[in-house]
Amino acid sequence: MTDKKQGLLIDYEFCTGCHSCEVACREEHGFGIGTYGIKIMEDGPRLLDPENDSKKYTWRYLAVPTELCDLCAERVSMGKRPTCVHHCQAAVLSFGTIEELMPEIMRKPQQALFFPTGESEDGWASLQPLREANREIADAMKQDYSTAGESVDTDWENAVVDDKLREDLEALIETYGLVIKEDESGVTWTGDRYPDKQGLAHIKTNTAAIMKLLKERG
Ligand code: SF4
Ligand code: SF4
Repeated sequence: MTDKKQGLLIDYEFCTGCHSCEVACREEHGFGIGTYGIKIMEDGPRLLDPENDSKKYTWRYLAVPTELCDLCAERVSMGKRPTCVHHCQAAVLSFGTIEELMPEIMRKPQQALFFPTGESEDGWASLQPLREANREIADAMKQDYSTAGESVDTDWENAVVDDKLREDLEALIETYGLVIKEDESGVTWTGDRYPDKQGLAHIKTNTAAIMKLLKERG
């Protein structure tokens, strides 16, 4: 069983969003596609230099353990490091006891320490605090996501949606949990997940068509 005094320290400053930790974790645990022990969230685009109108954007990546993370209990019991830590080329993931990691988190900002505090029925560590952290970060993402919704083309009634586009956009709506909001201040869009760069461009290009599909759903 996982030692409750162990945890995962994540330094968000230099995460490159390479997804190696996600893939390594999935392979180690045999998770299927769409199931994650650690998940990379994308925060952006943000203006690189908001003071100047340079139009250059930056993205920030957030690796967040999910409730499926067991801190690689089997590997750790054999004296190995968790596989996500082992495969992180940017060395932004650290594993250790809370006592070891605490001084590290005090050393610099933009870090988070994840650790289990309870036990589930089968004796594995319960990672409720991770769920909570996930939710907080997801909420932050959602807020950013909504803020990122610029003025959009609301001429949804005249949007042309052929079968191919419909299929494409239905998948996009499901993937990001998209919702289009209309109120007196205008139209914005939001969702459960912040889209990657390609998804963002796709949403912006097809907002009117997405609105049409969402309105059809009622
Ligand atoms: S510690 Fe192990 S189970 Fe947890 S996210 Fe990393 S690889 Fe996955
Ligand atoms: S935590 Fe490491 S392995 Fe995971 S996405 Fe960031 S840089 Fe890549």
